[in-house]
Amino acid sequence: MGYVLHAICPNCSYESGDLRVGDGLHFICACENCKSVVNPQRVRFHFTIPICPNCKVRLAPSGFVNIGHQLIYARPPVEVEATNRCPRCNDAKLTFKEIKHFIPRLILMPAEGAVVHGQIVESGKLEIPNLSWVDGLHLEVTPLDAQDRPMELKVTRIQKTPPPDDKRSSKIGIFVEFVRYLSQEDLEQAPME
Ligand SMILES: [Zn+2]
Ligand SMILES: [Zn+2]
Repeated sequence: MGYVLHAICPNCSYESGDLRVGDGLHFICACENCKSVVNPQRVRFHFTIPICPNCKVRLAPSGFVNIGHQLIYARPPVEVEATNRCPRCNDAKLTFKEIKHFIPRLILMPAEGAVVHGQIVESGKLEIPNLSWVDGLHLEVTPLDAQDRPMELKVTRIQKTPPPDDKRSSKIGIFVEFVRYLSQEDLEQAPME
């Protein structure tokens, strides 16, 4: 489910504009520079840190607001609390209220040959931004010391396995190969779609 939310500060009564989440593209961030809660788009399949759509300054990862799991379990009207403090008064925790909800129509899928970002997390699993819904993400050859290091990867193959009966949807596997490790400068490059 996608939601349009407003961030509200119970202390200074700051209220943000419309914030879209759950469409796989937008996320919420408290910008320290312009002291607003903003709604940048992420670069698909990349870790690249976006700039603030309001003041055009690079956002700090510490400002990202993670309320996703609360939204999944919430029943409308959604009102959830984030651990982030209000960027205006730096007091009270931000709360979010639902303005409306929508069904996201976009299915995000990279093309074969596309360059994506990924990371091996503690469990040994490969994670690629926007692709947590894919049944299997496979790194062809895992380089040494790969854990928790952002990598540039190339999509080599997309595999669709039809289910044993035709009632369920087919399973999708994405195969990638290691290109190089990403530096902090890479992550701050201007987004290129
Ligand atoms: Zn406030
Ligand atoms: Zn800003």
